[in-house]
Amino acid sequence: MEKKPDLLEVLRAYGVEVTSAGDRRVNAICPFHDESRPSFSVDPEQGLWFCFHDYIGGDAIDFVGSMEFGLGSWDSRNKGMFKQVLSILKEKNFSQRKIEPVKKEEKKKELSQNVLFLLGHVTEIYHQNLLKDKEALGYLQERGLTEEFIRTRKIGFANGNLSVMLSLLPEEVYRNLAVDAGLIYVNEDGRRWEFMKGRIAFPDLDRNGRVLGIIGRRLKHYQNPKYLTLKGLPKVIWGLHRFSRWQPTIIHESIMDACTAQLMGVPSVSPCGTGIAWHLVDELEKRQYLGFLSQDDDPSKRAVKRWKEKLPQGRVIIGSYDGHKDLSEMATEVGWDAARKRLFALLEKAGFEYEYGEK
Ligand SMILES: [Zn+2]
Repeated sequence: MEKKPDLLEVLRAYGVEVTSAGDRRVNAICPFHDESRPSFSVDPEQGLWFCFHDYIGGDAIDFVGSMEFGLGSWDSRNKGMFKQVLSILKEKNFSQRKIEPVKKEEKKKELSQNVLFLLGHVTEIYHQNLLKDKEALGYLQERGLTEEFIRTRKIGFANGNLSVMLSLLPEEVYRNLAVDAGLIYVNEDGRRWEFMKGRIAFPDLDRNGRVLGIIGRRLKHYQNPKYLTLKGLPKVIWGLHRFSRWQPTIIHESIMDACTAQLMGVPSVSPCGTGIAWHLVDELEKRQYLGFLSQDDDPSKRAVKRWKEKLPQGRVIIGSYDGHKDLSEMATEVGWDAARKRLFALLEKAGFEYEYGEK
């Protein structure tokens, strides 16, 4: 079980007034914004906070980092910043709190027909938003995603219109489900917030076109955490149900790497981050041909080794990209062909054979 500094204690040390409410989610006046009505949401049990002004959140480490360096400047991957925050936490000697792992019953949670409809509908709203949003669409195209890819994967953008769009549905049931799923948050005073607002929405589509979950990836570098998942739904590995269990499949920490590799013809998926939920480990155990391809940085290299401990049949592939941090960056910066050659060389060395350049 993981231990982390007690978030409520950390918040109070920084002058945030949180009413102690046991383990329930609580609201507070946001320390990063000048406001009179609380929009800062805290989940003490999971040790997570979220600011609904900037749609930024994280754990105790992210909080201290954002207070010390500024909400827009804090970067947990910056070694200097990270070390400094750890030493502050150590110095202040906050009590540690166990973070409960997600409960076993989660696995049994099946997506009802209504939830599947809702996710499909929201995906379509987000997808239409993206096609109209020059900035978000431009960002993805700059990263090398083709229009065909964006359309077939139904990639979208949460522009803040979800509440209004859902209010056009005649049935109340979907608006309530959107709250249960975590797509919409309702404050004590009835205000509604769209959880993914300002982010790229990556729906996890299975081979029948059903949407099993939606992942919100940041569009701008200061949006922390990098990925948001819907709290009311089981976690997903993006892309996993697109491929049969017999297809040799590569797992990437980053969703942009998984997209890049898919475009290069390699069945690729991403848990969006370094953690793989336990019910997904169960599912991955059924797959014989798995590769874990890292980015070229230490946290990512450590992550693929942890994946290997959970899933011994998988093969660890330590990525190197000529000084670029990952596959997607290499593709954008030095060109698609060189990056593709590198990808196939790395995979071949690990014993994976794909038809080179096949889509
Ligand atoms: Zn705020």
